[in-house]
Amino acid sequence: MLKNPDSLCHRVFKARFFPNCSILEASNSASGSYAWKSILSARSVVRKGVVWRIGDGKTVCIKEDKWLPDQVYKSVTSPLPSIPPDAKVSLLIDEVNGCWKDEEVRQLFLPHEVKQILSIPISSRLPHDSLIWSKTPSGIFSTRSAYRLLANEASASSPSSSNPHPQRHLWRGVWMLRTSNKVKHFIWRACNNSLPTLDNLFRHQIVSSDCCNICNAHPEDILHVVWSCSEVTNMWKELSWAHSSVSPPPGEFTNLFSSFLQVREDYRVEIFSIAAWMLWTRRNSIRLGRPARPLNQIFFEAGRLLRDFLEAHDEDPVPVLNPVPIQAKWTAPTQARYKVNFDAALFNHIDAAGLGIIIRDVNGAVIGALSMRIPLPHSVAIAEALACRRAVQFAAKIGLHEVTIEGDAAVVINAINAGDTEHSSYGHIVGDILAQAAFFSFFEFRYVNRSCNRVADSLAKRAKLSPDLQVWLEDCPQDVATLVLDDVP
Ligand SMILES: [Zn+2]
Repeated sequence: MLKNPDSLCHRVFKARFFPNCSILEASNSASGSYAWKSILSARSVVRKGVVWRIGDGKTVCIKEDKWLPDQVYKSVTSPLPSIPPDAKVSLLIDEVNGCWKDEEVRQLFLPHEVKQILSIPISSRLPHDSLIWSKTPSGIFSTRSAYRLLANEASASSPSSSNPHPQRHLWRGVWMLRTSNKVKHFIWRACNNSLPTLDNLFRHQIVSSDCCNICNAHPEDILHVVWSCSEVTNMWKELSWAHSSVSPPPGEFTNLFSSFLQVREDYRVEIFSIAAWMLWTRRNSIRLGRPARPLNQIFFEAGRLLRDFLEAHDEDPVPVLNPVPIQAKWTAPTQARYKVNFDAALFNHIDAAGLGIIIRDVNGAVIGALSMRIPLPHSVAIAEALACRRAVQFAAKIGLHEVTIEGDAAVVINAINAGDTEHSSYGHIVGDILAQAAFFSFFEFRYVNRSCNRVADSLAKRAKLSPDLQVWLEDCPQDVATLVLDDVP
């Protein structure tokens, strides 16, 4: 909802519950529906992982908001006595040149924060500030990253590893499940008691009775649905290991799930979780009068789903949009086009990064080369995005019209090809790249293997030797020339 303010759902909720602020600031309303209350309870997790990406800095408060790229402290800790409490980050941005006001930042902030602030990339187009999810490289919210956030938080608050916190064990257990996100999300909500079971709905005065519709004998909570309702209990009894794993009888769902977490045999906690999720979806179908899966098929189906999942998820590689055949070596562009390769290198010990760019023609001859040093960005992806932006600017400045731009950072190339300027910490840089590229009569962005990008890599690493911008036209340094010759077709 945060990212799709035009969605029907967002507009309906906004009109009713937060007409004058963003959803993250909306207050708990006693009259809210169950769906709205669920969103509010998930909101606390979202709020923990959301940070501001600085555009023009006009909506972000210097002192109050989370906008620093630090892993832990995202708000400013420098005392800043001369700055009013509601002062905005735009005060620190030089709008004419599209960069930080270097002097001011150095005077105002503590040294470690100076370093962080100056490393935040600024877009010369000064787009609006934007809230992004900080827990995935793509900036797109995933339930897995939310579990990881909660698990890390629980482990940080745990006193020592020899005395593991029960909560930490539980959240880690949820996150480690080798099942689909749907199942993990269900287990997570079951552990939080945030599913719309009849007893929850009854407590919120949404239904008039909490009595289970299937056995008509007991109140329906999530433990009842997946374990203690009479016909479900009989189903679990067929599986001898399941029943013997749980003793004494669980008082609530978290106890039940914890007992299965302790079962050593492979994938039994997964079988339990998938079966529990299927029992929940079956209960929903029954309630809606839809056809429901017979109980005697649940274990068979759960086993099949587990096998399918394991076959599909043995590896978790970065998916590449518009895949090109894997090449081992740089290839020349076609006649009349130029090929631009870019790369970035991080030099953590000197708080800097290097950008390297090489432009070559159909014969593999060098048109231009560039090597420059920048303040260390807080992720490799940002450094790669900045290298790409610089590559596009360099090609435009030389006056090229048709270019193929290649880099070895799949996540950045994917974001550019998808036109995703929204989600990630470098989305505004992707916007710069696309805006600049629109001036070429032809352009394409391609992901290539590192072995095709060796010259750009070497130019990026070279920036470690010199703080100054270095540019070569129809020439390049001697050591790089050897690599260029290797590439000549
Ligand atoms: Zn029942």
